[in-house]
Amino acid sequence: MYELKPECAKEFNLYFYHFSRAEQSKAEEAQRKLKRQNKEDTALPPPVLPPFCPLFASLVNILQSDVMLLIMRTVLQWTVEHSGHIWSESMLQRVLHLIGMALQEEKQHLENVMEEHVITFTFTQKISKPGEAPNNSPSILAMLETLQNAPYLEVHKDMIRWILKTFNAIKKLRESSSTSPVAETEGTIMEESSRDKDKAERKRKAEIARLRREKIMAQMSEMQRHFIDENKELFQQTSELDSSVSAVLDNGPVVSDTTLTALGPAQTRVPAQRQCVTCILCQEEQEVSAESKAMVLAAFVQRSTVLSKDRSKFIQDPENYDPLFMHPDLSCGIHTGSCGHIMHAHCWQRYFDSVQAKEQRRQQRLRLHTSYDVENGEFLCPLCECLSNTVIPLLLPPRNVFHSRLNFSDQPNLTQWIRTISQQIKALQVLRKEESTPITASSKNLENMDELHLPEGFRPDFHPKNPYSESIKEMLATFGTATYKVGLKVHPNEEDPRVPIMCWGSCAYTIQSIERILSDEDKPLFGPLPCRLPLFQDDCLRSLTRFAGAHWTVVSLSVVQGHFCKLFASLVPGDNHRDLPCILDIDMFHLLVGLVLAFPSLQCQDFSGISLGTGDLHIFHLVTMAHIVQILLTSCTEKSGMDQENAAGEEEELAVLALYKMIQQYTGSALKEMPSGWHLWRNVRAGIMPFLRCSALFFHYLNGVPSPPEIQASGTSHFEHLCNYLSLPNNLICLFQENKEIMKLLIESWCHNIEVKRYLEGERDAISYPRESNKLIDLPEDYSSLINQASNFS
Ligand SMILES: [Zn+2]
Ligand SMILES: [Zn+2]
Repeated sequence: MYELKPECAKEFNLYFYHFSRAEQSKAEEAQRKLKRQNKEDTALPPPVLPPFCPLFASLVNILQSDVMLLIMRTVLQWTVEHSGHIWSESMLQRVLHLIGMALQEEKQHLENVMEEHVITFTFTQKISKPGEAPNNSPSILAMLETLQNAPYLEVHKDMIRWILKTFNAIKKLRESSSTSPVAETEGTIMEESSRDKDKAERKRKAEIARLRREKIMAQMSEMQRHFIDENKELFQQTSELDSSVSAVLDNGPVVSDTTLTALGPAQTRVPAQRQCVTCILCQEEQEVSAESKAMVLAAFVQRSTVLSKDRSKFIQDPENYDPLFMHPDLSCGIHTGSCGHIMHAHCWQRYFDSVQAKEQRRQQRLRLHTSYDVENGEFLCPLCECLSNTVIPLLLPPRNVFHSRLNFSDQPNLTQWIRTISQQIKALQVLRKEESTPITASSKNLENMDELHLPEGFRPDFHPKNPYSESIKEMLATFGTATYKVGLKVHPNEEDPRVPIMCWGSCAYTIQSIERILSDEDKPLFGPLPCRLPLFQDDCLRSLTRFAGAHWTVVSLSVVQGHFCKLFASLVPGDNHRDLPCILDIDMFHLLVGLVLAFPSLQCQDFSGISLGTGDLHIFHLVTMAHIVQILLTSCTEKSGMDQENAAGEEEELAVLALYKMIQQYTGSALKEMPSGWHLWRNVRAGIMPFLRCSALFFHYLNGVPSPPEIQASGTSHFEHLCNYLSLPNNLICLFQENKEIMKLLIESWCHNIEVKRYLEGERDAISYPRESNKLIDLPEDYSSLINQASNFS
C-alpha cells in the first residue's frame, strides 16, 4: 500500500484514472482523515492541472459547454428536490468535482492572462445564470447555496463551501484585474443582484413559455378536432371504453380521513392509484400493473445474524433443513436490501448479460479482481453502483388483484372461521392422501370420498388463473430462487417447496430488522422520511412485502396449502401434524407473515363468501393471542422493587389477571407466583410492542393503507394508535374474552405441550419478550482474540 506524501496532498485527485473503486474509497477515507487530524476542512477539491499545449487548449471549453452545464444543473436540481429514484450521491460528488475543475481552470486563466487577451473561459458567469425556459430552474450557484445547509449532505458540505469560496475568490480576481472589462462588469452585476435578476428573468421566460404553450395547445386541439372528425366511429368506441374504466375506479375505494385501518373487512379502501415509473436504463416511462412488463428494483439478498440471540446456532444440513418455523432466537435470517433504482426487467437482463460477458473477457485478459463476484450473480446497480445480486419486481398491492370476490356481509367470527378452516384443511388432507395412494385401492378411496363431505362452498379442484404477465411471473420466480439460493446456500432450484418459505422469511426478517433500527434510534415508525428511513428503504420494504404476497401465484398450489396447514396446526392442533414446535419456540411475527401470505392459496378455492380480509384479521388476532400467552409464560415474574402505581385494578389489569389464572390452571400451577395485574399488563404491553410495530409495517406495505398521522410523531409509544390501525381492541385481553370457548381449548393445548412443562420446571430456556437489541461488542485489548472471534462468524 502506498501513501501520499504530505507535500503532495494538494495534488490529490479523487478521480485519479488508475484507481479501482475500492482504492478510490480507501484513498478518499485516508485523505479526509488526514485533513481532520490537521483540523482542516475535509473538502477534496480537484488539483490544479497543468495547461494543455496550444493545439488542445480549447478542450477545456468542454467544462463550460451547454451540455456539461445542463448535466450539472440537472443533477443539482435532483439533489435539491431530494428525489431518490434518479439521484445518487456519487453523481453529486462527480458534479461537484467537475465544477471544482472548471473553477480551478478559470482561476488559472485569470492569473496567467496576458494584457491583450480577452478571457473566453467564463464558467463563473455561466453558473450564476438561471436556467432556460421551460424549466426555469434556479442558477447552479443558487442551488449550491441552498445545498450547503442540507442536512442529508453532511459529507459534501465542505466541498460545496470550498466551491462557493473559490467562486468568490474568482469574483474578486475579476474585479481587481481590468483585463476583461466585458466579463467583469457583467460578472459583478450578476452576482450582486443575481437573486433579483434570477427572478425577473425567470418571470419573463415563464411568460414567453406560457404564450408559446398556449399557441401550441390551440394548434393541437385544432388538429385533434380534425382527427376526431375524420375517425368519428373509432373515437366513439374508445370513449365509451374509457368511461367504463373510470366508472369502475370511481365506484370502489374511498379514503376516510377519520380512522385508518390497515387490514380486515373494515380495511380503509385506498383509491387505486396509477403508478408510473421511469426505467433508469432506457429512460422510458412504464405504468406498474399486473398485466404490464415487469419493472424491477436492484436488490441484495444476504444471510444475516444481526438479530441473533444464539450465535452458536447455524444451519447444519442445508439440503434437509426445514425453515418453516423461525425460532424466536432469530439465529439466521435473510435480509434483503435495495438501492431503490427501477429498471425494466428486460433492460436489466440485457445489462446483466453484458456485465457477465464483459467480466469474462476482462478476467481472461487481465486477471483483475473485481470487488464483486460475477460468477455468483452479483452486479452493480447501473446508476449508483450499489452491490446487488438479484432484482425484486415492482407490484401493486397484491390483494387488490383478488378483490372481485369480496363480500363483507355476514362474515364468520373467529370461532366459526377456525372451524371452517379446520374442515377445509381436513378435506385437503384426505384428498392429498387419495392422490398418493395407488389406484388399486381406488374403490375403497371412493367410499372415503363419500364420507368426506366437503365444507360448503369449498372447491379444492379449482385453480385460479394467474393474474400476472409472463414477465412479472418470471421475475417473481427469479427473486424467489435467489432468496432460496442465498438463504440456504444451496444450488438454485425453482421447484423446491422451500422457496416460498424463504421469501416469506426474508420479508418478515427484513421488517424486523428495520423495526429494530427505528426503535433503537428512537425514530417513529412512519415519520416524515428524512427523520425515518432513506427513501429507498421504504421502496425496498414495499416491494419486498408485495413480492412475498404475490409469490404464491408462481408456486404449486398444493405446496403452499401444505405450508399453510402446517403453520396453522402449530396454533390450532389438527390430527395430521405431530412434531410441531411448541409456542415457546416460534417467532410469532414470522408465523404471522407466513400464515397471511399463504392463506390466499386456501381462500382462492373457497366460494362460501369468506373474504381474504376476514381471514387476515382472524389470523392476526389468533397470532396476537398466541404471542400474549407466550409473553405471559416467559416474562420474568419476579417482583421488581417498584410498587404498582394504582392498586385498584383497571379493566386491563383485571382481565390480564384472569387470563393469567387460566394459564396457571392449565400448566398445573407450575407458574407459582402470582404477580400483580399491573405488572402483568405492563409486561404484555412492553413485550408485544415490537410485534405490533412490525405488523403495522407489514400490513401497511401489503395493503397500501396510508399510516395514520398520529403514528408519525416521534417520542411516544403509540400503543393505542397502533391498535386502532391494526383493528385491535386497546385492551388486548378483550380478544380472549370475545372468543372464550375456542381460546380456552387452544390455550389448554398450548400449555399442555411437554416443552412448555419442561420450561416451567426450569429444565430448558426460552426467549422472553421484548427481545433485547444486540449491541456492538466492546473492542478487546488484544486484537488476536477479536480476529479469532470474527473467524468463527460466518
Ligand atoms: Zn428500460
Ligand atoms: Zn442503485
